[in-house]
Amino acid sequence: MTDRDPNEPMTEEELHHIVHLPKVELHTHFEGMAPPAFIRGLAKEKKVDISKIFRPDGSYDYRDFWHFLEVYEAATSVLKKPEDFARLCTAVLEKSAENDVVYQETFISPDFCGGGDVGAWKEYLHAIEDAATAAERDFGITLRGIVTCIRHNGPDQARAAARCAAETAGGFITGFGMGGDEKQGKQRDFAWAFDCAREAGLQLTTHAGEWNGPQEVRDAVEDLGVSRIGHGVNAYTDIALLEMLAEQDITLEVCPGSNVFLGVFPALKDHPIQKLRDRGVNVTISTDDPPFFHTTMRQEYAALAKTFGWGEEVFRELNATAIGAAFCDKATREAITKQLERK
Ligand SMILES: [Zn+2]
Repeated sequence: MTDRDPNEPMTEEELHHIVHLPKVELHTHFEGMAPPAFIRGLAKEKKVDISKIFRPDGSYDYRDFWHFLEVYEAATSVLKKPEDFARLCTAVLEKSAENDVVYQETFISPDFCGGGDVGAWKEYLHAIEDAATAAERDFGITLRGIVTCIRHNGPDQARAAARCAAETAGGFITGFGMGGDEKQGKQRDFAWAFDCAREAGLQLTTHAGEWNGPQEVRDAVEDLGVSRIGHGVNAYTDIALLEMLAEQDITLEVCPGSNVFLGVFPALKDHPIQKLRDRGVNVTISTDDPPFFHTTMRQEYAALAKTFGWGEEVFRELNATAIGAAFCDKATREAITKQLERK
């Protein structure tokens, strides 16, 4: 497919159409999507004072990456019981549906939902799944869960997360992944957890190459055998690695707004997403933790269209790539593909 001429100014009508396209989003953190108004409401009910994490306009307030982690922790500290997570599910899917997302995958961590205990995890999961089923009916959005271990919590905790994943694999839970601090440990330290999830029939993804360089992305593919990479954007400096990613059909879950907000790249124009596409690497668009990075899927589309001059055909191609790399079953993939064909 040819891209539109970036020198040609995009009409308002064209941009409006692009921004409102039906979308597939693969990379979101469940708690990281929590709308600030929802968290404020829950804090009030529970009589917890976290007012300092909000700006006067009600959005999340922080100065830098380290402060962001503190605010994230304070905001998510009010999420305790399965019922809290069920309400979170409804709140986040309503927001995603407002951004025309028709299919979404989200990272859910047993570390936050029962501390790695399989019995407790099942209670949280049932509550979340019920809410997701209701949201599918009410808002027309399909959600699938990726059980996620947290790298800086170490390999033992990751094993517990993998056991939770294996016990609940199939249906709503379609994948296993890893998030957390990329600067701690190695991908291969978590090989047992990923093998366990794979044997249970789950598909695999891991955060790599957001903060670390290309070697991290190579390790993720070679040591864990993942078919998708969370971010992976720092692979762009290693041509041989890009060839390998293209050849092995690995898909990158790229979160441009998150990368710019956290300073991985100074501005969207400096982001390597176009270079990755030019090298034939599968790329997709996601928001990561949208309210924390003051972004939405519509804002991502608008910014990418303006910065790179991408027309409707590019976004349709990105969505086709995303549903192709989604961890759902065949019937779901076919149903969503039909929705994406909507004009
Ligand atoms: Zn992420």
